[in-house]
Amino acid sequence: MVRAIYPGSFDPLTNGHLDIVQRASQLFDEVLMAVVGNPSKSASLSVEVRKMLITQATTGIPNIKVGDFQGLTVDYAKIENAQILIRGLRAISDFEAELSMAQMNKELFPELETIFLMSKAEYSFISSTTVKEIARLGGDVSQFVPPPVHDYLQEHFTRGAK
Ligand code: ADP
Repeated sequence: MVRAIYPGSFDPLTNGHLDIVQRASQLFDEVLMAVVGNPSKSASLSVEVRKMLITQATTGIPNIKVGDFQGLTVDYAKIENAQILIRGLRAISDFEAELSMAQMNKELFPELETIFLMSKAEYSFISSTTVKEIARLGGDVSQFVPPPVHDYLQEHFTRGAK
C-alpha cells in the first residue's frame, strides 16, 4: 500500500490542483490532500471551508482523502504513514523553491520521496491568488476552478468585494 501526501494551501482548490491530485490518485493507492493550516500563512478561506471544497470536488475518487495539519509537512507525513510527497510544478519559477524544500524535507525525513508532477499546459497559469483576485473583482472564474469552488466564490467573495 503506497500512500502519498499532497500538501498545499489550496486557498482555494483550482483546476490545476485537481488535475495533479487526479493524476496522483492513479499512481498511488491513496492520496491525502493535506491542507496547511499554519497561522503564519494568512489564508483567505478557513481550513474547514478549504477542506469542504476539496471533498466536494473530489467525490467519486475514493482513494483521495482530505486532512489538515499545522507544523512541518514531514511530521504530518510520518503520522499519516505517507511514503510519497506530491508537489505540482507549473513553471521554472516554481522550481527553485520546490527544489530546496524537497532537499530540506529529505534531510528531515529521508524515507519520504518527493515526486513532482508537471502541470498540464492549460492549467500552468492558474494560481489560487489570481483566481481570488478575479472573483473579488466580479470576473468569471468558472474555467479555472471546480464547480463547488466557483459557487462558493460567487456566493462569498464577489458579494464581499468593495
Ligand atoms: P503552497 O502554498 O504550498 O504553494 P498551493 O495551494 O499554492 O500551496 O499549491 C500546492 C501545490 O500545488 C504546489 O506544489 C503547487 O506548485 C501546486 N500547484 C498550484 N497551482 C498549480 C497548477 N495550476 N498546476 C499544477 N500544480 C499547481
